Amino acid sequence: MKKIVIAIDGHSSCGKSTMAKELAKQIGYTYIDSGAMYRAVTLFCLQKGFFVNDSLNLETLKREIVNISITFVNNPLTGKADTYLNGQNVEKEIRSMAVAEKVSPVAAVGFVREALVRQQQALGAEKGIVMDGRDIGTVVFPNAELKIFVTASPEIRAQRRLAELTAKGEPATFEAVLHNLTERDRIDSTRKDGPLKQAVDAIVLDNSNLTIAEQNRQLLAVFNETSQC
Ligand code: C5P
Repeated sequence: MKKIVIAIDGHSSCGKSTMAKELAKQIGYTYIDSGAMYRAVTLFCLQKGFFVNDSLNLETLKREIVNISITFVNNPLTGKADTYLNGQNVEKEIRSMAVAEKVSPVAAVGFVREALVRQQQALGAEKGIVMDGRDIGTVVFPNAELKIFVTASPEIRAQRRLAELTAKGEPATFEAVLHNLTERDRIDSTRKDGPLKQAVDAIVLDNSNLTIAEQNRQLLAVFNETSQC
């Protein structure tokens, strides 16, 4: 069967990566988490002290961006790909609240997006890929054969994200998580380059009241329809 590109975009913490990962596994495609790439650049900025009094030193980042290498390496223990920043496994660090609080301003920087979009397009050049993010169906792969736009109510998303953080032992409150995700959505939707928006030809999936299994069944059904066309 002909391989296609599947673009999954949507709001913060609406379970895009869970559904994209599961779908990729079922259909034998490669899964790429584009958000992890923006998170890795943000971690790099935090580690190197590029934030001064909350503002990002763009000149230094522009100079240093060539020294950022992001790769995905399969973890045999989890069966999932971990994110590596300059050869170091940063899968846990990039999911912290400290990174979540700074990632949207970093992702709004034009030259950061240009560099990461180029890498994402190269990763999908051979097709057979499921990529999730904010601009995958609009900027990275505007010709993707299947585009899904995922959403859920902010409160439900905050509840799910809080449960994830708590399970990992990271302290957080419902209010802080809700504020973080609505603020990320606001910055992501209003930025000039690659804003979060639904592609005109995307299928909308509101998973507020769906279980993971139900959402997966729906996704698999649209994939089967699309890949047979
Ligand atoms: O998907 P995730 O929530 O991990 O993404 C983290 C952040 O990275 C988002 O809030 C957004 O600011 C940025 N992002 C982006 N474009 C993408 C993927 C993520 O701007 N394609």
